[in-house]
Amino acid sequence: MQQVGSAQRADNGVTSTDVAMMQRAITLARRAAAEGEIPVGAVIYRGTEIIAEAANNREFRADPTGHAELVAIREAGRVLGEWRLSDCSLAVTLEPCPMCAGAIVNARVGRVIFGATDPKAGACTTLYGICTDSRLNHRVELHAGVLSTHCGELLRVFFRERREAKRLEKLVTRVPPAAA
Ligand SMILES: [Zn+2]
Repeated sequence: MQQVGSAQRADNGVTSTDVAMMQRAITLARRAAAEGEIPVGAVIYRGTEIIAEAANNREFRADPTGHAELVAIREAGRVLGEWRLSDCSLAVTLEPCPMCAGAIVNARVGRVIFGATDPKAGACTTLYGICTDSRLNHRVELHAGVLSTHCGELLRVFFRERREAKRLEKLVTRVPPAAA
């Protein structure tokens, strides 16, 4: 009997479980987009078992810290009754920002797998290397660019549609009210 992705490790260290978890994170991100949230999803897993999962909920909770990976980290700690997540992996559709990368280090997350890079806030490879900075007391096994095209496309479509909606909104408000 074969466990999903158990021992199938590609040369770059990304397993088929990692890819399956990223697909799950993409599904969560897609759902978030349907609710008007920026589409980012995250899954925390140990082996092939999902410990916690979340999507960005910043709008819904009016919470500036409501990033998918941060919400999932809090949930994983609660589920496991343990703040150290060193035997867990985290798959997230977008490169973590400084806040989330900081939380990843503080939670001692063992592995991070992310999809699209973030040129404006990426703190794992793009702007900073917080997860792998040897000056910090924990270093993460990091894998970038897993299903990155899918992950990035979600964001591109979301922002394109939002810009279009705003443009249409402006057009509507420009129409003068009908004379009584
Ligand atoms: Zn973040």
